[in-house]
Amino acid sequence: MIKDIKVEYNSKTYKKRKKFLGFGAPYIGEEEIREVVDTIRSGWWTTGPKTHQFEEEFKNYVGSKHAIAVNSATAGLHTSLTSLGIGPGDEVITTPLTFVASANVIIHCGAKPVFADVEKDTWNIDPREIEKKITKKTRAILPVHLHGRPCRMDEIMSLAKKHKLFVVEDAAHAVEAIQKGKKVGSIGHLTAFSFYVTKNVATGEGGMITTNIKRLVDKASVLRLHGLSRDAWKRYSKTGFSLYEAVVPGYKYNLTDIASSLGLHQLRRVEKNLKIRKQIWDAYSKNLSNEPLLTLPSPIESGDRHAMHLFAVLLDLKNIKVARNEFVDMLIKENIGSGVHFSPVHTQPIYRKMFGYKKGDFPIAEFVGERIVSLPIAANLTEKDVKDVVLAVKKVLRKVSK
Ligand SMILES: *Cc1c(COP(=O)(O)O)cnc(C)c1O
Repeated sequence: MIKDIKVEYNSKTYKKRKKFLGFGAPYIGEEEIREVVDTIRSGWWTTGPKTHQFEEEFKNYVGSKHAIAVNSATAGLHTSLTSLGIGPGDEVITTPLTFVASANVIIHCGAKPVFADVEKDTWNIDPREIEKKITKKTRAILPVHLHGRPCRMDEIMSLAKKHKLFVVEDAAHAVEAIQKGKKVGSIGHLTAFSFYVTKNVATGEGGMITTNIKRLVDKASVLRLHGLSRDAWKRYSKTGFSLYEAVVPGYKYNLTDIASSLGLHQLRRVEKNLKIRKQIWDAYSKNLSNEPLLTLPSPIESGDRHAMHLFAVLLDLKNIKVARNEFVDMLIKENIGSGVHFSPVHTQPIYRKMFGYKKGDFPIAEFVGERIVSLPIAANLTEKDVKDVVLAVKKVLRKVSK
């Protein structure tokens, strides 16, 4: 239990943490280990009964009609866009303040990523900016629930309806998120989740697509495995031989039963882990709110639930002697690992080169991207870890203050 922690910083009594606190290690139980061993012994390593079970449990958790397991969120987003027939000549609107994968998948389809700036307080894509970017070529909106905070899906869905667009959500951070009472994964046309090792449900590499639209499930399931017709993974089972046919040039994006063995138990623990992360979130909020050089995450709107995947703060660079990266380095010297989520995509060399994006194009995303630091928040942190983080942050802030 990490509760009601109160941390007072005192330069005389401060002691550097002995062991490095890594950023984002997975929480693993004996259940996962037993399940993986069982799968290995069963001889059915790749997509099979456990992946099917994982899909069933995942869709029940999210409240969507269908779930399709894939081997990453990137694969899930790519498959989703392709299922919608998005390709050359099309535009997809997304946020610049995200991991490159969210925008790369648009290029993988041959379409153009068009960015819309974020909101100053939530750091999520701004629906008013989306509307400004809609053209005749726009086919879809790809919102990202940054750090686990749900986007304004009600507004995004009504924009989509008005302009006849599809909505593909990047919910890599947001397995547990809820917007206006609706679970993320049950709102947009298609949603992709990530089970990368650092995410809230971890399988090493893995992902899931959810949707309520039957036609899209059929397309996505076929695309996920070489474009083979029908449940091709069943072709070696005892239910009878059936010769497959290739109906599209699909991908190799299926999830293994070894990964699903981890996912099944990770998912069953997802609400419990969120409660622990909320305690850490509250401890950081309470103990850092009096630091004038930090901006903390803005309050969560009523009816919404933040998945609390990442706890990020903004540095007041005007009153700090160092740049953000140096601040991160100084935390490492105190044996605290932290992260940057994210440096805006449009400033990445390949995006400048391919599309001519430049610094200044999306000022809010750039403002946030230059100042943002994520502090460790994971279900396996101890009370001592959380205290160490707060103390190290306070120490470094005093050192860099102008
Ligand atoms: C991790 C991440 C992805 C990619 O997830 P993978 O499962 O590694 O492909 C996509 N978008 C965001 C915002 C992410 O953080």
